[in-house]
Amino acid sequence: MLDGERLDPGLAKALGALRGEDVLDLVSLANRVRNRFAPGFQACSIINAKSGLCSENCRFCAQSAAHATDAGNYPMVDLAVILSAAETAYAAGVRSFCIVASGYGMTRADDDFRRVLRAVDAIHERHPDMGVSASLGVLGQETARLLAERGIEHCNINLQTAPARYRKLIADTHAVEERIATIRLLKKHGIRVCSGAILGIGETMDDRIALAFTLNELRVDVIPINVLVPIKGTPLEGYPPLPAVEAAGTVALFRLINPGAVIKLAAGRETVMSDFQGLLMLAGASGFITGGYLTTRGRETERDFAFLRELDGFASAPQPAPVPQ
Ligand code: SF4
Repeated sequence: MLDGERLDPGLAKALGALRGEDVLDLVSLANRVRNRFAPGFQACSIINAKSGLCSENCRFCAQSAAHATDAGNYPMVDLAVILSAAETAYAAGVRSFCIVASGYGMTRADDDFRRVLRAVDAIHERHPDMGVSASLGVLGQETARLLAERGIEHCNINLQTAPARYRKLIADTHAVEERIATIRLLKKHGIRVCSGAILGIGETMDDRIALAFTLNELRVDVIPINVLVPIKGTPLEGYPPLPAVEAAGTVALFRLINPGAVIKLAAGRETVMSDFQGLLMLAGASGFITGGYLTTRGRETERDFAFLRELDGFASAPQPAPVPQ
C-alpha cells in the first residue's frame, strides 16, 4: 500500500475482521499511509445556521421533526450571527468554516440560500485565507452553480452508511440516490466534496467498507467520520457506545481505501471515544471538527490544538507523495 497499490474489497473485508491487538497493526499501517499520501491537517469549525424542524426522518438525528428531542428549533440565523461564529473560529486559529442548515436540501436559490451566499462573500472579504464551506443537503443545478461561483471550499453531504442499507439504517423519507446525485452535481461544477459516515448505528463492518469504497468511486475529497452520540427521543436512544477498537479499525480502513482523502473526526470523538481519540487520530485521520457540533458539545479549540501538537512526531509527514489513482 505504501507503494501506491490499491486495497481490493476482498482484502478490506479480511482486514475488517481483525480483532483485538491485530487492529493496532492496521492502525499503524493506516498512519503510514496517511503520512505518505495525505499529509497535513485540516481543522474546521461549523455553525448550525438553521436548526431542527426537518422534514426528513434520519434515525440518529436530533433535528428531525419526526423525533421528540430537546434540540433547538430556529430558522436561518441572521448574517451577523454567522459572521460572528466565523470570527470566533478565525480568532482561535481555525481556517476552515462550514455553514450548516437542517432540512432536506436547497434546490432553489431562496432567501435562506441567498443569506448563505452573502455570508460566504462577507467571510471571504474579511478573511481571504479562510475557506468557507456549506452543508445544505440536496442541491439543484442553480444552487450548485452559485456555490461554485462563490469559490466555496467544499460542500458537505454525508452518505452515512452503505448505500444499499441507507433506507433501513438512516431514513426512508428520501433516497440515498438523491444524495449521490448531489455529489455528482458538485463534482460537475468543480466543487470539492465532503461526504462521510456515522458509525455505531447498527451497521456492520461490511457496511462501513461498502461506504468507504463508494466514497472512493465518487472521488470524495473530505470524509468526516462521526460516532453516534445517542440522543434522547431518537430511535437510536440507548444504543450502546461503539467500542474504541472497532472505531479505530474502521478509521484505518477508510484511510486504506481512500489514501489521499482528508479524513476528519467529527461528532463523538470527544464524548464517545474520550481517552481513545488519539488512537483514532493515529488510525489515519487528517483533520477534525473543533469547537462543537450541530446538537452536541465538543471541546475548546485551544485544547484541540494542544492535543494535536502532542501527536506531532507520530503523525507528521513533511513530504507529500502522489496519490495512487
Ligand atoms: S440529518 Fe439532515 S436531513 Fe436528516 S433529519 Fe437531520 S437535519 Fe434532516
